[in-house]
Amino acid sequence: MPDRSFLNWPFFEDRHRDLAERLEAWCAKSLPVDHHDVDAACRDLVKMLGRDGWLKPTAIDTENPTPLDVRTLCLTREMLARHDGLADFAFAMQGLGTGAISLFGSDEHKRWLAKTRRGEAISAFALSEPRSGSDVANMDMTATRDGDNYVLSGEKTWISNGGIADLYVVFARTGEAPGAKGISCFLVPADTKGLEIAERLEVIAPHPLARLAFNAARVPASAMIGRPGDGFKIAMSVLDVFRSTVGAAALGFARRALDESIFRASERKLFGAPLAELQMVQGHIADMALDVDAAALLVYRAAWTKDMGAARVTREAAMAKLFATDKAQEVIDKAVQLHGGDGVRRGHIVESLYREIRALRIYEGASDVQKVVIARQVLSEFKQS
Ligand SMILES: Cc1cc2nc3c(=O)[nH]c(=O)nc-3n(C[C@H](O)[C@H](O)[C@H](O)COP(=O)(O)OP(=O)(O)OC[C@H]3O[C@@H](n4cnc5c(N)ncnc54)[C@H](O)[C@@H]3O)c2cc1C
Repeated sequence: MPDRSFLNWPFFEDRHRDLAERLEAWCAKSLPVDHHDVDAACRDLVKMLGRDGWLKPTAIDTENPTPLDVRTLCLTREMLARHDGLADFAFAMQGLGTGAISLFGSDEHKRWLAKTRRGEAISAFALSEPRSGSDVANMDMTATRDGDNYVLSGEKTWISNGGIADLYVVFARTGEAPGAKGISCFLVPADTKGLEIAERLEVIAPHPLARLAFNAARVPASAMIGRPGDGFKIAMSVLDVFRSTVGAAALGFARRALDESIFRASERKLFGAPLAELQMVQGHIADMALDVDAAALLVYRAAWTKDMGAARVTREAAMAKLFATDKAQEVIDKAVQLHGGDGVRRGHIVESLYREIRALRIYEGASDVQKVVIARQVLSEFKQS
């Protein structure tokens, strides 16, 4: 039985504890799914999650608009990740892909949200380019005004759900100013003429992922989300909400690795006694438990701070993402070690966790970039004091 004591922390309300109980029962019944065909698995997961109501928190309810609840997003990601990395991915992308619409979209844009929240449309977030991953403000893709339209030209890469998405939220240079202030955000339906899947990308933990080509793809001017030149600000606001949730997914992977290790160390007998009686093994288990709890504190501190109305949680979210993802990698590595040969056997749960965790330390801001962000925040707070 996984540790649930964190649910009693003051960060949570009864509705979160109720959600955790219901979602745990759903996960136990429905997950994991067969990952053999990841596109089909993701489509099915989005449908299942939508059908059973779990996608509702990923976007604003236009009938009854309340802010996105980051604690619910984090808790859901943590629990899904503990059961099935692909289920977490399917859930997370419905939120990241529509985040700009929830936060800045017009009524027309928001019409998509009813579908994404029901699992009837799949969304994607297209920011990265071949030449500008971490250096987002340096993007090349352009959107040129032509009468009542914008014409999008260029490439996006590493786009999660690329190839299966129904809508892409795309960032492109509109040129109001150099660098970050000359970027705008657009809602681009997947069937837009000129938008092509240039390449499908394979990674160590398979997910639908693609490089997209925009060959003079034409969208109406009303496809712009927010105002001209606001794109960078919009992207950062979306990441401000969703970055802590990456930490939450890492926490779910780490918690699973810890649970598997406790079970293994208790069951496996070596030298006439359970592995768990060896002090060095106890040292590993203690380190893992400590890292899991510390990561949970940072993740839910960031989520709670945002939910309490903080305009930005840049520092808290960066700390949560950096610590939770880096420590999850260490926890999972220890789990592999404690499982011996089984730990590296294809198809074993800790082997899949070992592959799943790695990309989380790269996307939505690499660990090194999070350190830069934290240092800048801390230093500027000192200057202001
Ligand atoms: C599985 C996966 C899914 C993804 N999904 C999406 C998606 O849905 N949408 C999207 O837009 N993008 C997505 N990405 C792209 C992701 O956000 C980028 O890969 C990431 O921002 C890093 O960019 P890059 O790969 O170009 O690496 P680079 O920018 O070339 O950076 C390489 C390394 O340099 C170091 N580095 C970079 N900047 C600094 C700095 N300032 N200080 C110190 N060190 C630094 C870091 O170690 C970094 O990992 C995804 C990537 C992966 C792997």
